[in-house]
Amino acid sequence: MAQYGSEVYHNYDQPHQFAKKGATGAKTITEAQRKVQVIRETDVIVVGGGPGGIAAAVSAARAGAKTILLERYGHLGGMSTGGLVNIIPNLGDIYGTQHIGGFCQEVIDRLAARSAACFPDKRFWGKSEAAVVDTYLKANMMHFYIRKNKEGKYVVLYTAVIDPEVAKDEMNTIVLEAGAELLLHTWVTAPIMDGNRVKGVIVESKSGRQALLGKVVIDSSGDGDLLPATGTETVDYMIPGSRIAQFGFVYWISNVDLKKYDDFMTSEPDKYKEVTQEIQRLGGSPFFSRGLLDHQEGVVWVHRLIGSLHQTDIEEMTHIDVTTRKQSVRNWELLRDYMPGFEKSYIMLSSPQLGTSGGRRIVGEYYLTGKDMDTDTPFDDTIAVFADNDRGEKSLLYPKTYVPYRALVPKETEGLLVACRAFSADHDFSEFFNLIPHCMCFGQAAGAAAALAVKDGVDVRNVNFAALRSELIKHGAILP
Ligand SMILES: Cc1cc2nc3c(=O)[nH]c(=O)nc-3n(C[C@H](O)[C@H](O)[C@H](O)COP(=O)(O)OP(=O)(O)OC[C@H]3O[C@@H](n4cnc5c(N)ncnc54)[C@H](O)[C@@H]3O)c2cc1C
Repeated sequence: MAQYGSEVYHNYDQPHQFAKKGATGAKTITEAQRKVQVIRETDVIVVGGGPGGIAAAVSAARAGAKTILLERYGHLGGMSTGGLVNIIPNLGDIYGTQHIGGFCQEVIDRLAARSAACFPDKRFWGKSEAAVVDTYLKANMMHFYIRKNKEGKYVVLYTAVIDPEVAKDEMNTIVLEAGAELLLHTWVTAPIMDGNRVKGVIVESKSGRQALLGKVVIDSSGDGDLLPATGTETVDYMIPGSRIAQFGFVYWISNVDLKKYDDFMTSEPDKYKEVTQEIQRLGGSPFFSRGLLDHQEGVVWVHRLIGSLHQTDIEEMTHIDVTTRKQSVRNWELLRDYMPGFEKSYIMLSSPQLGTSGGRRIVGEYYLTGKDMDTDTPFDDTIAVFADNDRGEKSLLYPKTYVPYRALVPKETEGLLVACRAFSADHDFSEFFNLIPHCMCFGQAAGAAAALAVKDGVDVRNVNFAALRSELIKHGAILP
């Protein structure tokens, strides 16, 4: 099982076991055949507008492919906006070297230009700057921003936070500017297959059941929704207690008087301890992170983590949404009633979408495993280099990890790429490298590869890697 470095921790608010009802299993019905209207015939269809999907759509469109992006909700960004998981970590390593550029950096730059992204200044990356370290320790954001270097000193990582509301707007703009078409409120429910080749997708929406045909389909649904019906080999094993074996429910509390809170904590430490213990005794949690967006004063972020091994099970998802919402509101009521500084606070927002971190993953042309983290050797078809910051001593030895294009290519299904956290990796690799910046790298590579496959009239598995590499570098990717 993957081990976190000492600075990374995960405490679940709820265990993994949920009583299930319903699903009796045996009985089935046969649906009547029906004609479905084809609403688009295009080059590249991207399923899901999260970090992987927007990168894929933009990259494919920029590389010249006629592209459409399909998203079930009314906004783009997936977890990075709708999940209120607006922290983009591990852009650089413990030594201060940036590894992730390209589309991810472009999003950060565009948001920073609108004062909607914040990150430590470049001169502090990999450095022990006490004032900067203190800011993140105080914010309870150590696991995203601070690591120990070889000398045991705290150093600052390159991690960015983005404003989810501005990001939703900017992501629409980036996608449309790139020339991709966008359909929101569109659930992709099934692939259209011709033998083992994906030829398009079926969608369901307020407009009914419709079809889209495409030369390449990119599954960026996070959970790999298309995969089971394509016959693609997948795995979904997760180790209880790991980061990927959890749902997340995030909410933001506003109008907190943090000065009053800090004064209370420092001037009356015994009383502060008493209050935190009382909140815990009453079933709440007194812990939160301070909002790190510059314009957010008096806002705190609460990330509730709920262990789950079934992140595509609607019964489990419903149970978690209902119980965690109840706990979250109760938690805020306890803070409001007991904790100085929270008297006039209110919940300004809870994540519109439940946070998933694990789920199915393909067994692709290359299956990344824990061993691939312990090497200095790039692949011949490296499409991304990731900073490895979360494995304690191992990260100091191997500060970067490589990903081959083959990890996005299913083994036997044609016309399909996977550009989301369902990429081809075992539990241990996925545990560390399925975050927002990683999925953006997968998306950028998959989009460019899909466009090249269409242009050259080849299968996605036979894309000319030299051309793919040039296309990625042209758009800022940092490759070996
Ligand atoms: C509690 C928690 C905290 C996390 N914290 C961080 C963090 O701080 N930083 C970080 O980088 N990562 C974090 N992660 C992980 C990160 O959010 C995900 O790994 C990342 O968002 C994966 O990106 P994705 O594009 O694969 O999927 P998603 O972000 O899930 O995006 C998938 C998109 O596809 C859409 N979609 C899904 N199914 C369909 C369908 N059938 N039809 C149409 N559209 C569909 C969804 O609506 C969504 O927009 C966290 C995860 C959790 C659960």
